[in-house]
Amino acid sequence: MDLLTPIREAGLTYRLKALKLEKLGIFTLSDLINYIPFRYEDYTNNVNIRDLKIDQLSVIKGTMLELKNEYTRRHFVLQKGIIQDTTGQVSCVWFNQTYITRVIKPGDTVALVGKLEFSGRTRTFQVKDYEAITDDTQSIHTQGLVPVYSETKGLSSKWLRNRIFDLLKSDLGIEEYLPSDVITTHTLEPLTTAYWKIHFPKEIAQSQKARERLAFNELYLAQLGALKRREEWEEKRLSTPFELNKKAIKSFISSLPFTLTQSQQKAIDEILNDTKKSVPMNRLLQGDVGSGKTIVSAVAMYVAHLNGMQSVLMAPTEILANQHYETVKKLFEPLDVSVGLLTGSKKTVDSTNPPNILIGTHALLHKAANFEKLGLVVIDEQQRFGVKQRSLLREKGTNPHFLTMTATPIPRTALLVLYKDLELSVLSDMPKGRKQIKTWLVPPYKRDNAYKWIKEQIIKSNYEDQVFIVCPFIEESENAATVKAATVEFEHLSKKEFKGLKVGLLHGKMKIREKDEILQQFKDKKLQVLIATPVVEVGIDIPNATIMVIEAAERFGLSQLHQLRGRVGRNDRAAYCLLFSDSENEQVLERLKAMETAHSGFELAELDLKLRGPGDMYGTMQHGAAGFKVANFSDFELVDKTRESAERTIKNLQDHPKLLEKITSIQISTISPD
Ligand code: ADP
Ligand code: MG
Repeated sequence: MDLLTPIREAGLTYRLKALKLEKLGIFTLSDLINYIPFRYEDYTNNVNIRDLKIDQLSVIKGTMLELKNEYTRRHFVLQKGIIQDTTGQVSCVWFNQTYITRVIKPGDTVALVGKLEFSGRTRTFQVKDYEAITDDTQSIHTQGLVPVYSETKGLSSKWLRNRIFDLLKSDLGIEEYLPSDVITTHTLEPLTTAYWKIHFPKEIAQSQKARERLAFNELYLAQLGALKRREEWEEKRLSTPFELNKKAIKSFISSLPFTLTQSQQKAIDEILNDTKKSVPMNRLLQGDVGSGKTIVSAVAMYVAHLNGMQSVLMAPTEILANQHYETVKKLFEPLDVSVGLLTGSKKTVDSTNPPNILIGTHALLHKAANFEKLGLVVIDEQQRFGVKQRSLLREKGTNPHFLTMTATPIPRTALLVLYKDLELSVLSDMPKGRKQIKTWLVPPYKRDNAYKWIKEQIIKSNYEDQVFIVCPFIEESENAATVKAATVEFEHLSKKEFKGLKVGLLHGKMKIREKDEILQQFKDKKLQVLIATPVVEVGIDIPNATIMVIEAAERFGLSQLHQLRGRVGRNDRAAYCLLFSDSENEQVLERLKAMETAHSGFELAELDLKLRGPGDMYGTMQHGAAGFKVANFSDFELVDKTRESAERTIKNLQDHPKLLEKITSIQISTISPD
């Protein structure tokens, strides 16, 4: 057995809890010691029984003189006992924990944590935590700073504490894998010490120091991994760097129905400059919803075509792939560039006659890998694609340029740490003429009026205006009873509030063909209202939609709400976003209210971070992308320190086999399962 032993093979104690541990993301013994407490109970106030003060959290230690269950008239069971130390005695009580009389027997030495309180005329010690003491050094539940872990039903902090304590004591061996020069340069404490101190610190400062050591490991490893990917990337050589036919590119751009924004132009320059080189491009194009990423990628695809190379454009969903197909086809029709579509359910191409540009979902990856002249891969909404899909193409020996597009605001330090291997282009300005989308938080009592107002808007616009209504779930489930299900909402609205209007329904469980049909009807303005689950979240372009209603808005993060809001306001009419929420929680409402005034994705992401804490946006990214347990992207100083170290280490990484192994295993574990 070692630390990499899976929980299920680590003995009965573990196996019995395997399912619950896995729920917490703990699959191996190593995961368990890396399960970091989120706070500590302060059980440092050791008191002699004689000196106990009313209402003060105290730890007492002594002999249990007697202990028994006592049944009350109201069907409570009290566990009542008397404990004695050298200074006196006091009665103590637990509530409804009948097992206590089985684990503690009269005569046992115990430590109790709790408060002395008056009950009636007598003073009683109300027990919060207890521990039978056999050996003082082994007392981990009632002495000093006691770690508290996030729990799940049937898996208590006490259980976790016991197991982690056992593991740290065992000789399973926490192996140091950092190069010794890194350890000395930054005077890092030994890894074993750090684990002891993060779980069982003597004082808070110790746990902070330990945290720093573990965070150092995470940030250092992530950056080394990225540097290694970069090295590997740069070893790839293209047989033919692109040539830039300036005239053709210029005339393509001037044929567009609009002029490019400054940042679009800049991004295009950066991208084309990359494609001239013999190292394949690996660039991230980041831009808020509606900033016009598609056209930027289209220029790159056009250049690939001018160089006799094929391009693929991958979208995360079929709906989006269809939409990209329509857009790109229209763009290239006059230029005699063939565009094909390939998704799980649709195919406009056959293998004998591959198109110049192939658009689809990741179903097309296998296909594209066989392309003879694949020059460029564009990935829309990168977070939905795993490293695995990317490497599929490279395994097949093709070394195309990669352009990844995302609307997710990624903090600068995160880019530095995780995506060191990517170059970055940012679309920082919006196309001209975009107006701010008027946003209101609508309380329950104004809901009926809101529906009335929407209907009036539609009628006033002569049935031109179109409305999205987004609901969080498909079916009403018991634990989300208050959530308006899209189907229920559909029945209801189409018969009542929106009677006389054409209302459609779109959700994830519909067949692709049905989805397409509904969406097409909406595009053709045959429907005025579309009720949908968040499938509309990424990228759908319905130029005529002017009103976005979001049900149970409190269930979405601000960034997500912003993405949804970006679905409307793509024409010259005024656009609105109505956030419905039944929540009465003031913090929640304050968070939603921010949508009324904040209009940039970055600003909202920052706010999300501030109001909901790093658990959400950064959280998903930290866990999803890097598997961080303690490190934090906002720790600039540590990011800097680890960056320097990683840059030094990469130069002779082969001298550190343990480290190399560690990086490789981390890279594997970050491949997203989709
Ligand atoms: P996103 O960055 O969210 O993917 P899209 O590429 O879908 O944005 O562009 C959103 C809309 O803006 C599209 O209808 C597109 O034609 C239009 N658009 C793109 N660039 C410009 C521009 N420079 N001026 C005006 N409209 C533009
Ligand atoms: Mg897009």
